[in-house]
Amino acid sequence: MPPESIPSPQSLRLIGKQWPGRLLNVIIVGFALLGLLQWLACITDNDMLPPFHPLPASQAELLKYRYLILTTHLRESDTPKAHWQALQPSLRLLQAINPDISHWITQLNRENRILWKPHATLFNWPVLASYDWRFNNFYLGPDFWKLQEGEKAAVLAHEYFHYRQNRFWMVADTLGEGLSGKLSEYGSRTEDEAHLYQWYAYQALHMPPSDLVKSYFSRRKLYRFVLTPPSGNNL
Ligand SMILES: [Zn+2]
Repeated sequence: MPPESIPSPQSLRLIGKQWPGRLLNVIIVGFALLGLLQWLACITDNDMLPPFHPLPASQAELLKYRYLILTTHLRESDTPKAHWQALQPSLRLLQAINPDISHWITQLNRENRILWKPHATLFNWPVLASYDWRFNNFYLGPDFWKLQEGEKAAVLAHEYFHYRQNRFWMVADTLGEGLSGKLSEYGSRTEDEAHLYQWYAYQALHMPPSDLVKSYFSRRKLYRFVLTPPSGNNL
C-alpha cells in the first residue's frame, strides 16, 4: 500500500480532468478583470500630455549642450546636491522644450525622491531610468549618466509619460497583451507610447534618437507613427 500522501494514479487522472475547467475559469476572470480595468480607464483622468516646443535656433548655448556628456564623473557616493547639479543641463533643455517635465523633476527633487539605481537590465535592455508610481520614487541608473545631455532630456520625457499615464490603461494593456500572448521582451503598448513621447522630445531638440530608441522602434514597427506625428502629441 502506498502512503496516503502519494496520490493514486486514479486521483491523478481526476486532477487532469479538472484542469481544462480551471483554466477556463482563469481566462474568464482575466477577461472580466480586463473589462473592468478598461471601464475604469475610460471614466478616470485621461488628460492630454503637454506638447513639445521645438528648441529655438536663437538658443545657441542650449543647442551646444545637446551633444555634450557632462556627467560621466558622477558616482552613487556623490552628494544629492552633486546629483542635482548634474541634472541641470538636461533640465535646461527640457525647460525650453517642455517645461512641465522639468517642473516635475524639480518637484521630485524637492521631495528627495530622485534615487540612484544600481546597474539593472530588463529583458537585456539597460534600465537608464525608472519611475515607480507605487511609491512616487524616481530612479536614475549609472548608464543614464553616460548619455548626452539631449538624450538625458529625452529619457526624462519618457519617464514623465509613465508618471502621467493612466494606471488603469497601463495594467489593462499589460493584462490584455498577456492574455493574448503578445506580451514579449520586444515591448508593450504602454512602452510604445512612452517611446513615441520620447521620440517627440528628440524631434523638439533637433537630434537623431539614440540607437536604443531606434532599435525599439524597429522591433515594434513604430516608424509609421512618427513619419506623420499627430498634432499636439495626443498619445
Ligand atoms: Zn518605459
